[in-house]
Formats: sequence, structure tokens, C-alpha cells
Amino acid sequence: MTMISYPATYDAMVERLKERLGDVVSEAEIRLKAEIAVEINRIKKEKNAIILGHNYMEPILFHSVPDYTGDSLYLSRVAAEAEADIVVFCGVRFMAETAKILNPGRKVLLPSPKGGCSLAESVTAEDVRRLKKRYPGIPVVTYVNTYADVKAESDYCVTSGNAGKMVRHLVEKGHDRVIFLPDQYLGGNVAREAGMRFVLAELGKDGAGEPPPGTVIGWPGRCEVHEQFTVEDIENARKQFPDVVVLAHPECSPEVVEASDFSGSTTGMIRYVENMESGRYLLLTECSMGDNIASKNPNREMLRLCSVRCPHMGEITLEDTLEALRRERYEVTVPEDVAARARVSLDRMLEIG
Ligand code: 13P
Ligand code: SF4
Repeated sequence: MTMISYPATYDAMVERLKERLGDVVSEAEIRLKAEIAVEINRIKKEKNAIILGHNYMEPILFHSVPDYTGDSLYLSRVAAEAEADIVVFCGVRFMAETAKILNPGRKVLLPSPKGGCSLAESVTAEDVRRLKKRYPGIPVVTYVNTYADVKAESDYCVTSGNAGKMVRHLVEKGHDRVIFLPDQYLGGNVAREAGMRFVLAELGKDGAGEPPPGTVIGWPGRCEVHEQFTVEDIENARKQFPDVVVLAHPECSPEVVEASDFSGSTTGMIRYVENMESGRYLLLTECSMGDNIASKNPNREMLRLCSVRCPHMGEITLEDTLEALRRERYEVTVPEDVAARARVSLDRMLEIG
């Protein structure tokens, strides 16, 4: 885990941001934001704090203050091992909650009071209890994009980076059916990868019988961003740019993933592009990521499909991050009984790698 370092002076920060983002952000904005970034980095040291930044953070924030950047899996690992007094999570609430559960001794702050996620809001702990009653003995695998009480009812937690591996592992252990929550599309993609069939749970149909062996039982949750990408988007891009390489996050529909050239977690997509010398890429995910990759990899051309943005990730700004550190707000807490049960499924997520 490599900690990112930043220049301590205003002039050096302006130079760094101009070098990374000079093509996409005006100099006036860079100058304004550099001042805030320098102050954030100063307070971080004073208060023994670290900042974790998800790959979706807007470009200026992404390149000026996080000590670690990455996908949900990597940031969970960093959070679990953090020794700082304060962990500021520039991401959404379920990520900050996960950090708190994995490392309860730290003060965890989220710069936005809400930081929602359409997937996390699509399923409740009561839904999981009903599913376990309806499908007794079938392991519950839950996407990390859920709240703590849902994780507490689950057997295994996963991220987009290890969901397929976890399901294959359970099949090898003799489970011929798994419940996968709450992302219908990620569940469908995982089932396809594991050679299993995918059906949605039938909670209302008591006595409807067990799904046959080799089934992933899913839930109708969707990411409000990724559900909007279509196969037609890919076809149009390929018509206009026949050499384009299309990368889709596995929260996209199975049809979209199948029509793409690569699918992986946010970091999986970044690595794919960084491992190429050059080329033209279309990322079917939150748009900031394209800018963040382009700024570090000048030979890669990133096509933009920016009509779809994650409003929750977009709430996190440099200004709010500064206020979060100054006032030590908005602290994320999880009741210890819930955290203790959620930790079991999260520890299994970290074990599977
Ligand atoms: P990653 O775990 O791939 O970073 O994805 C998190 C997320 O919320 C994607 O929309
Ligand atoms: Fe949630 Fe989708 Fe936003 Fe990711 S992009 S945080 S899954 S709403």
C-alpha cells in the first residue's frame, strides 16, 4: 500500500495540478483549489488524519489530497490497517461505514452528510431476513454497496473486484445455490462467469419450490448510473471509432458487459488502460474516472459518455473535505452489535482477496 505524497507549498501544488489537469481545468480554478488542497494537507498532518479517495472523485480532489486512491476493495484494506486518528473517506456512506466496521478505533468522517447509493438503498436488513427464511441454508453473498445492518445479516461480503471469485469458491465448497444481493446486474454477470443460471428471488411465492442446483438467486437492485449504459451506446462508439476498446463496470447489464472488451472493478479498468502503451478507450462507468486516467496517461485517448454521473459521489468536494477536517464532521458510527456481525462477512471479503 503506497501512500501518495503532495507538495506542501501553494506554488508547487499549482504546478502539480497544472501538469496533471492543465488540459481539462482552467488555471483560475486550479489556483483557487490549490489553496484549499494545501490547507487540507496541512490539517491532515496536524490532526494525524488520512484521506481515502475513491476512483470516482472529481479530478482536482483526486489529484491533490487523498493519501490512498483505489476501488472499494483496496480502500477497505487500507482502512482496516489504518493507524491514523482520523480517516476521512472521500466516497459514499457505505464505504465510510465499512471503514468504521473494519477499524472501529478510528474516527471516520464523511465530507457529505448523506453520500447515498441507489444499490445500498435498494435492500433492507428485513429483506435479508425474509430471504433467509424463504431459502434456508443457502449462503447470502452481499455486495459491499449496502449498509451495515444488511451486511450484519449476510454470510459473505464482496466487492466488484472479488464477487466472481467468492461465488466460485462457494461452489467449490459444495454450495450449488447462492443468494446474491442487491445488484441484479452484478449478480447476473457473476452467474454467467461461474456458468450458473440467474433468477430473481420470489419472496411472495411461498411453497414455490427451490430453484434448481447451479442457480444464483438475485435481488432487483440497480446502480442508477450503470443501468443506463446500453448495447447501442457500444455499437455507436464502435461505428464511429472502430478501434475503440470498451470497458464496462460489472454493475452494467450482462448484455452490456458481454458486448464490451473488458469488465472489472474501477481499479481493474484503470490497470487495463495503464498497461497499454496507447489506444482509444470508452469507460462505461462514472465519468470522472476517464479524466483521472487521461491526466496520468497522456498517450491514451478516453472517449466520454458523460450524460450519466453519480450524484452521490459528485457531492464530495474539496471545500466539504476541508470543512470535514476542520470541524471533524460528519462522523460515521455503527452500533457495536451490528458492527460485530457485519465484520464477520467483511473479514471474509478481505480474506478472499
Ligand atoms: P468499485 O468497487 O469497482 O470501486 O466500485 C464501486 C462503485 O460504487 C461502482 O459504482
Ligand atoms: Fe452507488 Fe452507482 Fe454511485 Fe457506485 S455509481 S456509488 S453503485 S449509485
